[in-house]
Amino acid sequence: MTNKHILIVEDEQKIAAILKEYLEKSGYRATITGRGDQAVAQVRKSSPDLILLDLMLPGMDGMAVCREVRKFSDIPIIMITAKVEEIDRLLGLEIGADDYVCKPFSPRELVARIKAVLRRTNPEPAGKNLAIGPIAIDEVSHQAKVNGQELDLTPNEFRLLQVLISQPGRVFSRDELLSRVQGYDCDGYDRTIDSHIKNLRKKIAAFMPGQEIITTVYGLGYKLMYNSEKLCGVD
Ligand code: CA
Repeated sequence: MTNKHILIVEDEQKIAAILKEYLEKSGYRATITGRGDQAVAQVRKSSPDLILLDLMLPGMDGMAVCREVRKFSDIPIIMITAKVEEIDRLLGLEIGADDYVCKPFSPRELVARIKAVLRRTNPEPAGKNLAIGPIAIDEVSHQAKVNGQELDLTPNEFRLLQVLISQPGRVFSRDELLSRVQGYDCDGYDRTIDSHIKNLRKKIAAFMPGQEIITTVYGLGYKLMYNSEKLCGVD
């Protein structure tokens, strides 16, 4: 078991409590701080493995907390925000967060993101098995399976699935997907990604009809998601 320590910086007690409970069920240790101006001291004191940082906080906002923490630590930070328009800044050099989730979010999605960020920031040797729901990929053998049945994917389709499954729930823009897939295919048009996604969906759907696991996020791109649980936390 991981038993990594997650610091939750969130002033809405209900959300913080749900997150803590969910994290503990998932094998993490979790503590809560409700004020931005106490968060930095808390980080210094307890050196958590990852921080979940709400944007709107009393005392000091999440961006300022993130900047302060970055002055002395590279600890992974996932921002929780209801402001989609702030995302580029949050992830940029100025603020330096590692990832974000948008409110409302599902706790399960958030835990998947935490795992992905921890994996990325504490990389294990290459060649992992990644799985979500019925989908599993083996990075060494380049095999992808749905419910144990092997998918016949092109290298581009495999790479796309690999990128999407590495951070479930995260939205990838077409540009980002294109740059991640490059090296396999270089005719750089957004449409290329759309057609790869279309083929990938078709192949997956053959084994799990009626369930759409790759979702189009209008105006942003694509994400991979497997669950239909309730959302929590509208700021
Ligand atoms: Ca808040």
